[in-house]
Amino acid sequence: MVGVSMKCGDCGTLLKSVEEAQGHAELTSRSNFSDSTKVVLNLVCSACGKPCRSKTETDLHTKRTGRTEFVDKTEEATKPINLEAPKVPMDVDEPTSSSGQPEGITPFMGEIKSY
Ligand SMILES: [Zn+2]
Ligand SMILES: [Zn+2]
Repeated sequence: MVGVSMKCGDCGTLLKSVEEAQGHAELTSRSNFSDSTKVVLNLVCSACGKPCRSKTETDLHTKRTGRTEFVDKTEEATKPINLEAPKVPMDVDEPTSSSGQPEGITPFMGEIKSY
């Protein structure tokens, strides 16, 4: 299964991207995340465009604004989380001994004798 969100091990907040998790980690100065297959809701208020990520939030928003229409954009916002940091291509340790002279040609190292 592919994780689609990250869960903060401290407060249980679901973060829907690595960037969000990093932001959360900076706010809380903790980084105790596990990937989760729990989808983070993305319910966007059709009146003001406020994104809500849980039913609790939409309820709260409804209470505040009286708006009850939310567009479910969960699916377009849901992306598999890649916990692996983007890999920087590492230089493979190449044996330096092979970078010398091509085989078969011996550089002339002797003294040049002039007669
Ligand atoms: Zn947290
Ligand atoms: Zn609204």
